[in-house]
Amino acid sequence: MQIIGVAIMGDSRMPAVRSMLMVVTVVNGVVAHRKAPFVGRSDGRSLGRWGLMVNRENRVEKRSVLVLMGGWVLDPGRSNREADVWIKDGVIDAVVTPDTSPPATAECVDVTGLLVLPGFVDLHVHLREPGHEYKETIATGTAAAAAGGFTTVCCMPNTKPVNDDITVTGWIIERTKATASAHVYPIGAITLGSAGRELADFRTLKQAGCVALSDDGRPVMGDEIMRRAMQSAAELDLPVIAHCEDTMASGCGCMNDGPVSRAMGWRGMPGDGEDRMIARDIRLARETGARLHVAHLSTAGGVEMVRKAKSDGVRITAEVCPHHFTLTDEAVPTYGANAKMNPPLRSERDRIALIEGLADGTIDAIATDHAPHAEYEKQWGMNRAPFGVVGLETAFALTQRLVQQGRLTLERAITCLTSAPAAVLGLQKGTLEPGVVADVTLIDLEASWTVHPERFRSKGRNTPFVGWALQGQVIRTLVAGVTVYQRHQAR
Ligand SMILES: [Zn+2]
Repeated sequence: MQIIGVAIMGDSRMPAVRSMLMVVTVVNGVVAHRKAPFVGRSDGRSLGRWGLMVNRENRVEKRSVLVLMGGWVLDPGRSNREADVWIKDGVIDAVVTPDTSPPATAECVDVTGLLVLPGFVDLHVHLREPGHEYKETIATGTAAAAAGGFTTVCCMPNTKPVNDDITVTGWIIERTKATASAHVYPIGAITLGSAGRELADFRTLKQAGCVALSDDGRPVMGDEIMRRAMQSAAELDLPVIAHCEDTMASGCGCMNDGPVSRAMGWRGMPGDGEDRMIARDIRLARETGARLHVAHLSTAGGVEMVRKAKSDGVRITAEVCPHHFTLTDEAVPTYGANAKMNPPLRSERDRIALIEGLADGTIDAIATDHAPHAEYEKQWGMNRAPFGVVGLETAFALTQRLVQQGRLTLERAITCLTSAPAAVLGLQKGTLEPGVVADVTLIDLEASWTVHPERFRSKGRNTPFVGWALQGQVIRTLVAGVTVYQRHQAR
């Protein structure tokens, strides 16, 4: 069976790795390759083509009705009022005024004083599996997602092997089905091995379940291959998520190029390099009609270009990460490698521009770029430590800071975590509309807490926010009507 499996995978580039992957898959009794993968709910009901899960002990009972009573329901564009949420068979049944009597058999949960939100959607996470399980797995990464209020995450393809092939996509989907606490949507690679030379087969990746294309972690440097990628992606209506970085400019840099990097004697990564590639990708999106999504926007110049492109009618969206709107490069000497990520923390001017872009809708979504690494890797010092910080378990409270500071309305903040990211990829998520899968996040806006990385559900501890006192805490997270996180269990 295993030999047949290897033959099916037919990979001449990394046969050893792929074979190993296949063996693991067979040992776990999971089929790696399916033409039209289907993921069903644990009780056998369909959640649609990309449903999930869930924790078998918490399995939702058939025909059960759960009522979340007395909370403040904030469903962007639909509801911002005190209401009860009825969940039937894992699906949103109704959002009703609190005086409506629930069915006699309903299980009622008093959520008075809590914010009742659609589960958060993260367009940009690194779950590290397959290949880097010592950093994170689909199980631990989605547990971290649930603890952070995220019920849907999109995983970047820079695993080992890279998700440039349906065998890897299928494996991720099966692994998700077996181990995840949140919905996982894979993102396929633009180029084989994300090496920037040869396009992956977008059509089969889409058929296998990839919802977008990206070589995230690396830019696609060649103009011509990016043009061909956007042409093919446009034909398939697949968004292209661009990691915009001119590696000729960023070179061996480890932080933003500016007064701080010069004072510290560390090589800088200029914001101009990011801007140049954003400009190129906007030009290519305009020429090809592709849907371009700019990942982890970090510069004032980038915000301005996205704003202009939107007003010109280019099909463009953008995301920003909480670390970029919270910190500047001034924080790097203090936090060291735990403040090293790509793109790097920029200047105060950039940070303010990002917040303004979020507030006025230029930037569509907040995404974490959750990038866990082992503790020893981050101890290699600024030059050698890998790029990236974890983000799933601090994202909401950092976003809430902007609300407290009066820079963002609460509704806009929630929109950027729910319906807006869902819209970027056309996912039926981020809403409490009756009929959708009941992914719900309950928040206590008043609760204060301190960031203790050793309590993270992620394997990654690499955050600059150690010891920060934050306000706004995830109390409970439900995926398809099933509780996948409850605060007292974790913090
Ligand atoms: Zn990333």
